Amino acid sequence: MQILEMAQRTLERYALCNNCLGRQFALVGYGVDNGQRGEAIKLTLTMKAHQLSLLGERAGVSLLRKIAENGAFDMASEILRKLRKRVGKRRVCHLCEGRFELTQELVDHSVEELQNYEYNTFLVGIELPTRIEEREDEFKAEFEVKHGENMRNEFSRTIGKKLSEMTRKTTEYARPEVVVLINPFTKQVVLQVNPLYIMGKYKKLIRGIPQSKWHCRECRGRGCPQCNWTGKMYPESVEEIIAGPTLRRTYGEGTAFHAAGREDIDARMLGRGRPFVIEVKKPRKRFMNLRSLARTINKQAGGKVKVLGLRVTNRDMVRKLKKAETAEKIYKAIVGFNRNIGDEELGALEKVFSNTVIRQQTPLRVLHRRADRIRERYIYKTKIERLRPNCVEMRIHCQGGLYIKELITGDEGRTNPNVTKVIAAKAAPLELDVLNVIAGEP
Ligand SMILES: [Zn+2]
Ligand SMILES: [Zn+2]
Repeated sequence: MQILEMAQRTLERYALCNNCLGRQFALVGYGVDNGQRGEAIKLTLTMKAHQLSLLGERAGVSLLRKIAENGAFDMASEILRKLRKRVGKRRVCHLCEGRFELTQELVDHSVEELQNYEYNTFLVGIELPTRIEEREDEFKAEFEVKHGENMRNEFSRTIGKKLSEMTRKTTEYARPEVVVLINPFTKQVVLQVNPLYIMGKYKKLIRGIPQSKWHCRECRGRGCPQCNWTGKMYPESVEEIIAGPTLRRTYGEGTAFHAAGREDIDARMLGRGRPFVIEVKKPRKRFMNLRSLARTINKQAGGKVKVLGLRVTNRDMVRKLKKAETAEKIYKAIVGFNRNIGDEELGALEKVFSNTVIRQQTPLRVLHRRADRIRERYIYKTKIERLRPNCVEMRIHCQGGLYIKELITGDEGRTNPNVTKVIAAKAAPLELDVLNVIAGEP
């Protein structure tokens, strides 16, 4: 069907604003918007109808009426008045119910909401009532619309363009910092502010601090006499030490802490540190000097924790970190024995625990939160130095996920081979440090 013929049929049947009429031909023509398309079509149809009426054809006046009433088109009303014909009331658009007239209002409202946040990229999302979408689908089927655009698209495209002009920010589809959710029918504007991800590495320079916040076992975080009403098992954690200053700088609503594995509470994390990502939820500020943030964190941490290499990253990095949990590690363990150990015995230990597979059943101490199963982990190399007749330092370079304390004690036979069994003396881990997290360095 020809454009004008089809447009005339739609207007004879339904009220359509310029946008909703022009949108049915959105893929035809270039460099004009749907409103201009609709206006041009109405203008041409009005000229056609005027010509018919000048030729004394009745169809002319009746078409002028349709364009004036269903098309709400001023020129058609004017001509009818000049011809001394009755002009009926304008009808509201069948498809958008007049919502395209609100475009600027919705843009202004969005700009106002966005003023509370720092961002460079955004995306407009449009919510439409189901009845409206269904109505448009029926309309398209009825007139066999082939080169049109849908309403959601036109709203998001035109509002996005205006927003971009007013805010001088960029539309971004894959990873927008803010999504502006707009419902033109309720006039509601809701911002979905995406998290800010900051990555870096941390060192834990003292023992006795957990990596993440632990809720009190008694009260599960509500606060009780057991935890001195803090709701926590430990007064501080690596997570909290990093999150505090970060949250104050970003004015976020909360944080989540992700790291490539974790060390025990009583183990230090040394070397080049452990990779982590701190996720800030709904940050009001996201552009900042990260060196200065690192300085503040380190100053407030008072030598307990140190962060380095802070930089902005994205959600993909969190997934990479989870994978890096199995990254190779180097541990330093101080091991005490219940008798003196000879040099040959130490040599034998080094041999047994180099280039070998350890079969490890989930340790008893973590059984309450981990599934009971047997894992195989590889040890690449172990080096042993004597400190005292009954005390040594072991440096163990192994696959991630090996529990070192259990490797030493044997964990009631759940880890094999183990130091206690190989040397036939009771072995106990006195101190444990992570010296390096090797692979998976982002
Ligand atoms: Zn409309
Ligand atoms: Zn408690």
